[in-house]
Amino acid sequence: MTTRSAIKTSTLLAQTAAIASDVAARHAADVDSKSRFPQETFDALRQARLLSAAVPAAYGGVGAGMLELGAQCAALAQGCGSSGMVLAMHHIQVACMARHGRDSAFFERYLRENLVERQELVASITSENGTFGDTRSSVCAIAIDKDRMSLEKDATTVSYGAHADAQLVTCRRTADAAASDQVLVLFEKGSYTLAQTGTWDTLGMRGTCSPGAKFAGNGAAGQILPGSFADSSAQTMVPYSHILWSALWSGIAADAIGRAAAFVRAGARKNPGSVPPNAIRLARAHVELQAMRNNWEACAIEFDEMTASDDQAARETLGTMGWALKMNQLKMACSEVAPRLCHEALQIIGIMGYKNDSPFSVGRHYRDVLSAALMVSNERIAAKSASMLLVFKDD
Ligand SMILES: Cc1cc2nc3c(=O)[nH]c(=O)nc-3n(C[C@H](O)[C@H](O)[C@H](O)COP(=O)(O)OP(=O)(O)OC[C@H]3O[C@@H](n4cnc5c(N)ncnc54)[C@H](O)[C@@H]3O)c2cc1C
Repeated sequence: MTTRSAIKTSTLLAQTAAIASDVAARHAADVDSKSRFPQETFDALRQARLLSAAVPAAYGGVGAGMLELGAQCAALAQGCGSSGMVLAMHHIQVACMARHGRDSAFFERYLRENLVERQELVASITSENGTFGDTRSSVCAIAIDKDRMSLEKDATTVSYGAHADAQLVTCRRTADAAASDQVLVLFEKGSYTLAQTGTWDTLGMRGTCSPGAKFAGNGAAGQILPGSFADSSAQTMVPYSHILWSALWSGIAADAIGRAAAFVRAGARKNPGSVPPNAIRLARAHVELQAMRNNWEACAIEFDEMTASDDQAARETLGTMGWALKMNQLKMACSEVAPRLCHEALQIIGIMGYKNDSPFSVGRHYRDVLSAALMVSNERIAAKSASMLLVFKDD
């Protein structure tokens, strides 16, 4: 298990930070303005074999824990927020397969051959027309015929679907199953079609390229991830999503505050011996940035400690109300503080932060983090927490 101090010497992190500054940051403005996939960044990550960071060492991957993956996503997001988000979403899908597909010959082979050897990229389809942002219910259902299966899904938002090598899709277990009786199914490129149904001309996170799409795929029944989505969601998808997203939002906020700090330092150099007035605002912003980092890192460390032995007790804890509330609170806190920090950076820098073509520009950062509260609506999350808090007692 990687500790906070060991992270500083992590090769994975050093390689990612180099790609963030040398590749991702260089193309970030173009990715944003053209709303295009950050291809250069993902070519570099693939070449450095970093796309299998979340695959356990037993299958040939890096075997990075949550803290190291979070630090990696944050580092990449400092260069390009969309790249950080795509990497986080890929790791979330990989973690679901690695943690819940261990007893499946299909998923073991997929982890080794597709994810480690070929460094493939996996996208996620949880959203669906008719479920209104509730990932824990599906309209579509898988059709199984002996050892074959097929699925059709009308998705509202599919990030980098056209650039991915596979899609991990939620659906009902059978045609007569309840909306919440779901499974996750993996479809490899060549076994599905994805017909784009909308556009992705958004305020931010433009490089995630996430339009709606009609999905249709088929394959072997072995491509259904063992167990229920109720379990893989609580034990893996939700913790990985909320912790890695929070980490990458902290990376975006850190880059905005870093630009504000550079601006303040440049001002101070012009008047040696005096502290510029906006330096005080910067000091206050650092308080929130530190709290934000500590928040996601503490959850990541707790998750890594809990899952180090991967026993039944850990899985049960991940299914408790206490843990679910902690994940909800982390997501709500970080998604709300990140825009506040970008706003602070803009107030500190002023017009040079407002201009899109200035080295101190924070417009892209601000627009990117505005997606955080919507990406699983905070109102929806707060409503779920509210009903849990009616019965939950913290002892
Ligand atoms: C950058 C980005 C990338 C994404 N990538 C993917 C992807 O790759 N794959 C994928 O499947 N999905 C993806 N999504 C979709 C995402 O996961 C959510 O499904 C989607 O953002 C929710 O859409 P919605 O706002 O219409 O949903 P809803 O949750 O239905 O929210 C709609 C409105 O209803 C309000 N609301 C909802 N519930 C309540 C409540 N209980 N109480 C009060 N108000 C409520 C909300 O405030 C909101 O205003 C992505 C989203 C973003 C922003």
